[in-house]
Amino acid sequence: MRVHKDTSALATRICWVIICTIAPLIIGVMRTYNTAELQALDRNHHIHPFTDHQQMWAKGARVITGAENIYIHDSDGNRYLDGMSGLWCVNIGYGRSELAEIAKLQMEQLPYYNSFFQTAQLPAIELAEELSAITPAHLNRVFFGCSGSDGNDTVIRLVRHFWACEGHPDRQIIISRKNAYHGSTMASASLGGMAGMHAQGGMPIPGIAHIEQPYFYREGGELSPEEFGLQRARLLEQKILELGPERVAAFIGEPIQGAGGVIVPPDTYWPEINRICRTYDILLCSDEVICGFGRTGTWFGMESLNMNTDVMTMAKGLTSGYQPLGAVMISNRMAQALDRKGGEFMHGYTYSGHPVACAVALKNIEIMRKERIIENARENTMAYFQSGIRSLADHPLVGEVRTHGFLAALELVKNKDTREQFDENGTAGLTCREVSFNNGLVMRAVGDSMVLCPPLIITRDQIDRMHDLIMTSLDQTRSVLTK
Ligand SMILES: *Cc1c(COP(=O)(O)O)cnc(C)c1O
Repeated sequence: MRVHKDTSALATRICWVIICTIAPLIIGVMRTYNTAELQALDRNHHIHPFTDHQQMWAKGARVITGAENIYIHDSDGNRYLDGMSGLWCVNIGYGRSELAEIAKLQMEQLPYYNSFFQTAQLPAIELAEELSAITPAHLNRVFFGCSGSDGNDTVIRLVRHFWACEGHPDRQIIISRKNAYHGSTMASASLGGMAGMHAQGGMPIPGIAHIEQPYFYREGGELSPEEFGLQRARLLEQKILELGPERVAAFIGEPIQGAGGVIVPPDTYWPEINRICRTYDILLCSDEVICGFGRTGTWFGMESLNMNTDVMTMAKGLTSGYQPLGAVMISNRMAQALDRKGGEFMHGYTYSGHPVACAVALKNIEIMRKERIIENARENTMAYFQSGIRSLADHPLVGEVRTHGFLAALELVKNKDTREQFDENGTAGLTCREVSFNNGLVMRAVGDSMVLCPPLIITRDQIDRMHDLIMTSLDQTRSVLTK
């Protein structure tokens, strides 16, 4: 008996030694962390974009670990319906292995080469041609970058260079709008009209002027939407005359303001802007970073909103977010002037036309074409999504519903008649965002506007599911706010 006991004790001891030496090795190789460990590491080392870190640390970052179709997963195993397509970009949805495969192939064949100094490579050439094909006929020349922000920096450089080539070097000023979002570099954030961003770091830079936005619900007063649209467009004319048309290079706008809270302009707005730009020969720049690639039911927002665009910025949906890539397209008129007089364009990024990003963009566009993703959305699901969203106007918390294509905003108010807000700090929006996250739905809060931008591949059943989650979240938000 005694011998037996000793043997088993020895065996146990050996087992423990083995477990204690091997387990850390296995865990070390797998680098499995629990959520709290990840949050601690994140807190110690990671500066997040557009995040109040004190607020985030109070509950810890939400760690996203995987995704498929229209769903994302977090490190605690929760699944969320992603009503925001990531950050307005995953238009064809998550988990498309064709995009992973083409990236791998391209990395094996040519992971990198630049387009500086008279070199080129296949994916960038092919993508430039493809973008010329899918954009309106007069846009046929493209400059590649890595994002929407650097794309809009490029827009400033290009339009000023164009006017210099045309013999008007004094045409320098770009007019933009308050509450516009054009990115976060010094120049693109200056083009944008976000007061909070301008307050940090000495923006806007010189040479940029802002006019008021076409935000009917909050700024329309007693006017009809049509009158208001005209009035806000004519502020551009006033500004041009005030600055002197000979000093103005361009006007830039998002067809529909995204980050500003899905501000859909009245129908009268863009046609009047077209007229004014034509009258004073001001270039019209369409920032298609959100509205491009099917978001509004056409390939580009300028088509469904009738903009006479000279320059367009693309990013986000260009690769469905699978790779960082941006692009600026210019009109034939601009291209010809640059050909004649442009000389060397003193601008470029190491990753301009990155072959892997361009290969992924090409495959993304091919999938959109083959599966008729935009046509299907336009014919089968967009109107369904919109009518569901519009029906939420009856909810006691919803002051206004704005929707166009697969974009929507629900503006939350305390009093529907007076449009009074709960407070100035966006508490209602943040509350609703938190509540809906906990219910398994990602909505974004812009102030008190709840914003939706679902993947274009969302089905009617998934729209129903999303609608139920929104309803539940609105009800719960209301009970929290009116407690
Ligand atoms: C997101 C966005 C940008 C900036 O793009 P990044 O890729 O984040 O630099 C520019 N314009 C619009 C309209 C956007 O929504």
